[in-house]
Amino acid sequence: MGSRPRRGWRRVLLWSLLIGLLAVAQGLLIFLVVEYEAARMQERADVAASAVADEARQSMARSLQALQLLVWGERSAAQWRGDAAELLRGRRELVRLERRDAAFALVDAVQAPHVATLFAAIPRGEQSLDAQTACAGARRSGTPEFSRSYYTPLASGAGLELMDLCLPQSAPDGSSVIAIFSLAALLDAAVSADASRDHELSFVEGDGARLARAGAVRGAGIYRAERVVDLLGANLMLRADSRQGRPDLIPNVSVALVVSLSIALMVLVALLARDVGRRAAAEERLADSLAFRKAMEDSLVTGLRARALDGRITYVNPSFCRMVGFDAAELMAAPMPPYWPPERADEYKQRLLGGTVGAESLTGRETVFVRKNGERFPVVIYEAPLVNSVGKQTGWMSAAVDLSEQRHIEEVSRQQQERLQATARLATVGEMASLLSHELNQPLAAIASYASGSLNLLDDADGNEREMLKQALSRIAEQADRAGRTIKSVHDFVRRREQAREAVSACALIDAVLPLVRLQARKSGTRIDVQAPEPAPRVLADRTMVEQVLLNLTRNGIQAMESDATSLDRRVLRIAVRAVNAQWIEFTVADAGPGIAPDVAQRLFTPFFTTRSEGMGLGLSLCRTVIEQHGGALDYSTAATGTRFVFTLRAA
Ligand code: ADP
Repeated sequence: MGSRPRRGWRRVLLWSLLIGLLAVAQGLLIFLVVEYEAARMQERADVAASAVADEARQSMARSLQALQLLVWGERSAAQWRGDAAELLRGRRELVRLERRDAAFALVDAVQAPHVATLFAAIPRGEQSLDAQTACAGARRSGTPEFSRSYYTPLASGAGLELMDLCLPQSAPDGSSVIAIFSLAALLDAAVSADASRDHELSFVEGDGARLARAGAVRGAGIYRAERVVDLLGANLMLRADSRQGRPDLIPNVSVALVVSLSIALMVLVALLARDVGRRAAAEERLADSLAFRKAMEDSLVTGLRARALDGRITYVNPSFCRMVGFDAAELMAAPMPPYWPPERADEYKQRLLGGTVGAESLTGRETVFVRKNGERFPVVIYEAPLVNSVGKQTGWMSAAVDLSEQRHIEEVSRQQQERLQATARLATVGEMASLLSHELNQPLAAIASYASGSLNLLDDADGNEREMLKQALSRIAEQADRAGRTIKSVHDFVRRREQAREAVSACALIDAVLPLVRLQARKSGTRIDVQAPEPAPRVLADRTMVEQVLLNLTRNGIQAMESDATSLDRRVLRIAVRAVNAQWIEFTVADAGPGIAPDVAQRLFTPFFTTRSEGMGLGLSLCRTVIEQHGGALDYSTAATGTRFVFTLRAA
């Protein structure tokens, strides 16, 4: 029971750990998915930038090739214009071609038909400084060279970002051709539909200023990739800017998937936790009821036993173990119940396997078991079929009640009953005696009075005869009187029973019977040995009755030693008194006779039981009744060398 709160805490800890780990795992997953999304977006931007930059480079290379052809060889002015116009039609990024002489003065210029007139707002002269520098460089190196980019407004209000490419003429006159590129057109031509769908593509300057842009959308400024497009003498920076912003948690499909999965998982965990909670509560209830059942079974005084159909023991409660003296493991391991009496094992087995076991389930069946120490004892078994949850019989369940205690009580009560009957019979004898004395008293009294009347009459008679008659008659009177007294004493004895209890010295009791005992002992040459402490303890007793008890016991003892079995020198009757404790005084009458035979001992205290022809068989039963009426107890011990009767009386 004490471990239950600890178990509860452990469960809470485990669950918190699980939920914590799940939360961390889910968080990590979401983070990784977002990261992955970001990386993917960045990658796409990189790919777009590279692709567009490559395309722009190639496109520029192709333009350069075409331009080189235009520069190469001698042409007439008209021829040049025709070739230039042809070139401008073919390459849309080129917006104008100029021929300049060595002094950089404009010789001829052809403009692409698809753009509005250039240099209408600002004259070309003002913007040709960069081109002039590029041409100086180109002439020095002998290779074409680009100028920096510049902006020129158009008449329509819009403007174009342009770049000049100066190609020195092959003729040694120092003239050159200047091709003006539109960055926007260059970009447009390089951007594929694929790249433009998701990205804003632009040429930017070092400070970030946008020179030209293409693509359908505006970039969000989060995922950017830049590539340098190296032109001759100048570099352009190409930037791809993804229109995707940072991945939002919800609109993003994979993130949304992960999040909803996480939520589902959490809900599942919550449901699981609730289920586990319910289970734990049910478990607790089950544990409680099991503990209650076990406590109940353990505290039962009735022995419980379960058997399988083949007779194997499958369960016993502690009470059953106590009853038979074997422990549960021994009982369950044994192939045959060890408490079956060996001589009846076959009969028991027959009954078990014959299926007649449960027949007396309600009334119980009495049988005999053997304890581990070999003691046999009666039990009553109540047996019922053991049926499992699907209604199939799996064995037998029985309750066993030990009857030995009950038997003992029955025996004691039977003895008490017997004694009660004996007392009743004694009482009847008493009543009879009382009646006898009553009936006899009258005629005895009459005898006495007639006798004395005769005596009076004889006064007139004479001499010797008269004297003899007188003597005889006086004897009649004497005897009648004595008979009357005897009967009266019987009457008194029966009537008095409990009235006259007094404190009397134990020695006084013994002394009172001693003359009579001595008289009887003389016949058989028995010596009397009295042992009593000084001063003698005093007891609370009805003198006459206790004296009668002492007389009976001493008489029995003397009679036991009268036979030849006891040699003369051993014929000693010992009468002893001692105080057991402050409340009880013990009297002992011990003889050296042959002892009491077992069959005699069984019926020793039964009224009218005697082994003597002249005996009445009332002595001992009367003694026990008298002592028990006094609250004491009479007992004896016997051996071949003598018998000892011991009784106790309450101390005064
Ligand atoms: P009774 O003396 O009239 O026979 P008791 O009740 O006094 O009746 O005794 C019953 C029987 O018990 C006697 O007949 C005798 O066999 C036996 N008995 C009693 N006391 C002794 C004794 N001290 N030693 C041997 N046997 C005895």
